[in-house]
Amino acid sequence: MARITILDCGTTTVDEALPFSDRSRNKLAFTGILRGKSHKITVPVTAYLIELPKALILVDTGWDTAIRTDARKYEGFFNYFASPGFLPPGKAVTDHLEALGYKPSDLDYCILTHMDIDHAGGLALVRDAKRILASESEKKASEGLHPRYLHRLWRGIGIRTFPDREFDLLGDGSVTLIPMHGHSEGMTAVKVQGDDGFAIIAGDAGYGRRSWENLVLPGVEANREEALASLRKLQGFAKSPQCKAILMTHDPEHATGIIKL
Ligand SMILES: [Zn+2]
Repeated sequence: MARITILDCGTTTVDEALPFSDRSRNKLAFTGILRGKSHKITVPVTAYLIELPKALILVDTGWDTAIRTDARKYEGFFNYFASPGFLPPGKAVTDHLEALGYKPSDLDYCILTHMDIDHAGGLALVRDAKRILASESEKKASEGLHPRYLHRLWRGIGIRTFPDREFDLLGDGSVTLIPMHGHSEGMTAVKVQGDDGFAIIAGDAGYGRRSWENLVLPGVEANREEALASLRKLQGFAKSPQCKAILMTHDPEHATGIIKL
């Protein structure tokens, strides 16, 4: 028995071409540069708690509470301009853990699908998790100078890595880390297998059903071919009768809820 709780960790406001690149022909539309407010949409920011008999796993962290004081400073200019975030009271990842009866130190793993601020931005809140993990390639990319990666978010926090291949986290097939590269260098999806089927936590590989049904790329991709291959992978999973859900961080269809497997 596995249970995935979708944690509603606030929102972010983006240009409509960021989730679905076919909403504009302008290659830079996702940044919002020279685009009016009419193109802005607000989408959810989610994280996930996986409860298994043998492990408690958090996937992604949402925003830090520091966003409430000075969002521009916390996100940095580049991120704030492209996707200003909002974290209402009671929606920080630690608020959700507390409501479910857990402390950050109860987490056996915190897995980062990738290290953009809306996913790794709350790391300081869960720094007491037993192990914090990202893929080898994502960790390496995050050490570079691209403005999407804010080194201060993980300064002093030990992030370990898992290999860039399908990786059976607990050795029993219940949680498999699957490379879903493209949106970022080392984006990773988490497949959770229960008695009754599986669900895929797909991070930002897509932004909703349209992404994998119609192979619509997001406006941001580190590697276009890999991003497309990842959407095809999701399409393949979706065809399986065992597939109970494909969860994406910013998909309004899956902004809250519990999936029992
Ligand atoms: Zn995101």
